[in-house]
Amino acid sequence: MDITTTEEKRQMKTNIENTHWDVLIIGGGATGIGTAIDAASRGYKTLLVEQSDFGKGTSSKSTKLIHGGVRYLQQGNLSLVMEALKERAILKRNAPHIVHDLQFIVPNYDWWEGPFYGIGLKLYDLLARKESFGDSIFLSKEETIKHLPTIEQKDLQGGILYHDGQFDDTRLLTSMMRTAENLGATLLNYTKLVDLTKTDHQITGAIIQDQQTALKSEIQAKVIINATGVYADKIRQKDKSSLTNIMKGSQGIHIVLDKDFLPGDKAIMIPHTKDGRVLFAVPWHGKLLIGTTDTPLDSYPLDSIPQKQEIDFLLNHASEYLVKNPTLKDIKSIFSGIRPLVTDGNPSNTAEISREHKIEVSDSGLVSIMGGKWTTYRKMAKDVINVASTLVSLPRVKSKTQHLKLHGYDRDAENYGHLSIYGSDALIIQKLYTENKSYQELIHPAYSITKGQIIFSIRFEKAKTIEDLLARRTRLLFLDAVVSILVAPKIAQILATELNKGPKWLQTEIENFIKIANTYIP
Ligand SMILES: Cc1cc2nc3c(=O)[nH]c(=O)nc-3n(C[C@H](O)[C@H](O)[C@H](O)COP(=O)(O)OP(=O)(O)OC[C@H]3O[C@@H](n4cnc5c(N)ncnc54)[C@H](O)[C@@H]3O)c2cc1C
Repeated sequence: MDITTTEEKRQMKTNIENTHWDVLIIGGGATGIGTAIDAASRGYKTLLVEQSDFGKGTSSKSTKLIHGGVRYLQQGNLSLVMEALKERAILKRNAPHIVHDLQFIVPNYDWWEGPFYGIGLKLYDLLARKESFGDSIFLSKEETIKHLPTIEQKDLQGGILYHDGQFDDTRLLTSMMRTAENLGATLLNYTKLVDLTKTDHQITGAIIQDQQTALKSEIQAKVIINATGVYADKIRQKDKSSLTNIMKGSQGIHIVLDKDFLPGDKAIMIPHTKDGRVLFAVPWHGKLLIGTTDTPLDSYPLDSIPQKQEIDFLLNHASEYLVKNPTLKDIKSIFSGIRPLVTDGNPSNTAEISREHKIEVSDSGLVSIMGGKWTTYRKMAKDVINVASTLVSLPRVKSKTQHLKLHGYDRDAENYGHLSIYGSDALIIQKLYTENKSYQELIHPAYSITKGQIIFSIRFEKAKTIEDLLARRTRLLFLDAVVSILVAPKIAQILATELNKGPKWLQTEIENFIKIANTYIP
């Protein structure tokens, strides 16, 4: 059960301050939580702090693909593709309840596209070696239309079908958070690193602050890992204020449409739009995701706002490839994330900056892990813990995550129906249903999300706000922003009962959520 009362938080503060941590990780996205798993599984005493909710940053706003990256193949970055394909296979093995195979079709409108992309995708299969999810195949025009009944048929020549991985990013992140906890790590959301502390010019600890009670704690840690994504420079500059920025944030948005724009279970991948971008149309949780864009930003708000030209770009391009042309009023939700790209100079085109990760160790011992992709989080975590453990001479233990099953692991999870994404935790939700029949009630008739799921996430998954529940433990805000606003009072009531909060808290909580949810509506 999660800590909720201020008294319990005080007790927690004492425990945290009295522990001499081996590893303190800043940032609760894919990179930070992956690092917590790696550290804890090697037996290191591990603490992770996240200033907001786990996944509030970029890690909830991906295209939901566990992939080698066909685009990186186009850029000739074979080592990145091979590394990501290896990670894809490891993740599908360790989290089969969340990561699955998805078939993509590249439609061809020019005579040369079939052989050109066909050879490229054969190479993609070859690079995956034994770990391939299935062979890519050429499709005739008729076969392409059979798989994609709403594809634009004018000038269509045929297509190529290939396989990649798909997931639910924050459900995986939540499973990872539970995995790290099961291994003995302590993970705190709504806890911000406010300062680093030093002895003889070496970092020996940090000041962290609970964002809900404002309680500050002074932590001692042998090594601190900066896994704050696009915010990495802020932490680097807390260590040494004269450092220049090396992160460049590039915004990518997705629009979410009803599934009838692309019925069936196949995704579309356009490797090269007229203005040289990659476009995906992907079925996800009964809706259609279309993305993404690549817009360099100069500042990085946690709730980054989609720009009008980005929305227009996606609507216009979706219209080029689909027979039914989507308009603004068809958009159920828009979400926007910022890619954490590491620069070595000052490249102007963010699409060209490498997605490889970089590890930096400062003179005073701050270890920063930057860049990378969701797909490669495990390898990034392994690399950074190798560096950090050597730096401060922690006992030498090899990474154990290659064969570590993630929380909820269940190969037959589809038997749990709409609860399959929880893996074996579905049994706990089903037990809640038997304890109280009302927990089976749907929170809205159009979506198969029950009151039991909400209660489960409050009790076991550290959800503390309406947004945690509707954006990241369930995905309703990402699937239908208007409906998420409609159900917000009901969710607030459940939260208030579970967390023992009063009417004033409840009202503020609803207002806060509506403000955020409105940014998901065009
Ligand atoms: C549009 C888009 C689509 C993408 N699609 C894919 C995809 O399909 N597949 C794929 O593999 N990759 C994809 N990526 C890349 C992937 O999402 C990112 O590489 C990954 O999520 C980065 O994770 P992170 O943990 O490094 O950063 P984040 O998820 O941003 O986590 C950093 C965290 O640090 C916290 N933080 C910052 N400062 C502090 C502080 N002082 N104290 C405590 N916490 C702090 C932040 O609140 C944040 O939650 C996509 C990226 C974008 C933008």
